Amino acid sequence: MSEETKKPAGKKKFELDPALAEYRGIWVFIEHERGVAHGVSWELLGEGRKLADKLGVPLAGVVMGAPGEDTRRYCQEALFYGADHCYLIEDPLLKDYRNQPYTKGLTDLVNAYKPEILLLGATTLGRDLAGSVATTLKTGLTADCTELNIDVNIRSLLATRPTFGGSLLCTIQTLNYRPQMATVRPRVMAMPPRDTARTGAITEHALSMIETDIITKVLEFIPDQNTNKINLEYADIIVSGGKGLKKQENFQLIRDLAKVLGAEVGATRPLIQSGWVEAGRQVGQTGKTVRPKLYIAAGISGAIQHRVGMDASDVIVAINSDPNAPIFDFATYGIVGNAMTILPALTTAFRNELAARAAAVALARSWSVAFRGRFQRARRMMLSRFSCDWRSA
Ligand SMILES: Cc1cc2nc3c(=O)[nH]c(=O)nc-3n(C[C@H](O)[C@H](O)[C@H](O)COP(=O)(O)OP(=O)(O)OC[C@H]3O[C@@H](n4cnc5c(N)ncnc54)[C@H](O)[C@@H]3O)c2cc1C
Repeated sequence: MSEETKKPAGKKKFELDPALAEYRGIWVFIEHERGVAHGVSWELLGEGRKLADKLGVPLAGVVMGAPGEDTRRYCQEALFYGADHCYLIEDPLLKDYRNQPYTKGLTDLVNAYKPEILLLGATTLGRDLAGSVATTLKTGLTADCTELNIDVNIRSLLATRPTFGGSLLCTIQTLNYRPQMATVRPRVMAMPPRDTARTGAITEHALSMIETDIITKVLEFIPDQNTNKINLEYADIIVSGGKGLKKQENFQLIRDLAKVLGAEVGATRPLIQSGWVEAGRQVGQTGKTVRPKLYIAAGISGAIQHRVGMDASDVIVAINSDPNAPIFDFATYGIVGNAMTILPALTTAFRNELAARAAAVALARSWSVAFRGRFQRARRMMLSRFSCDWRSA
């Protein structure tokens, strides 16, 4: 082949289809149920803000729900947490979450206003909705992302998530379809500051659907007693146990320490699989992602599938009998030793320390009450003397 006919080396420059180029802006679906907005919505607004600033586009919240004060309040909150404006669909059909009306509402909004990126929480509701919206819109969805970024040159979302059982991370792009969709689990992203000075417009849109179009009916809502009690994702302190605890009875040592610290209890997957601990307490890739101020890990090796769920904790204290355990590579403090001896010692030490502090606070309070009493008596005496002196003068 002559020099002239040789093809130039290198990648072909990617060009976005002109029909897709009109998609602009980043949206975050604001999830709420029974009067409570899910924290993951605000975390996604924090992340969405960074992406929107990189692309130089607005960030919007999408709120859907039954007409009422709450629904409007979530729009307001979305602005406080970083949105520039909000899209709102209010309709009595949206009172309880049902896939059909929520999918219809969200896909209609996307088709009308064309955002280039749509983010949802990887919660039970978010996963259900994201899947049906993506298939209805015939676009790509990357589920359970751990990192989001932007290739600004081609306006492409870089959605990173674990793959091959958590041993690798892959970054997925949706080049030829819009919007680019992703779900992110609660606590993977940091909570942004809430700025009550922020304001923005609300764009209202109608739900073009009637009750007879919907095949599901909500007859009654029965809360799951267990899941409501476990608040791992938003706990400030978590005490977690692993296989190093050897037998189920020893897991009580984890519960004892957690009780003294006012902490939540977590566990590794093998303990869930053995039936030692409730499934809702699993921390890790196929469990919950947590971000507490303090994570105490006892008898846990620090396998990657566990690590991805907890290494954003502020302080990690690892207790392990093996000085070469992988968890010591990323723990803040390491205690090498037998968890069955160290856990009760910590429980006793914390119990004594917290009791001493509580006693000191109670003493300081009683002093301040006594001092205030004496001060008020002295003040009354001085005032009465002064008024007597004044009258007799
Ligand atoms: C697809 C997939 C998804 C997964 N998802 C998750 C997940 O979400 N969460 C999760 O946790 N795992 C998950 N796993 C499992 C994960 O790979 C590990 O097997 C698991 O995290 C190990 O749990 P462990 O640390 O309790 O046990 P081990 O790895 O067996 O570690 C036990 C540790 O205890 C220490 N030890 C032993 N005796 C004592 C003692 N007396 N005192 C103190 N320490 C002691 C040992 O030195 C060891 O480091 C997943 C695996 C796969 C394949």
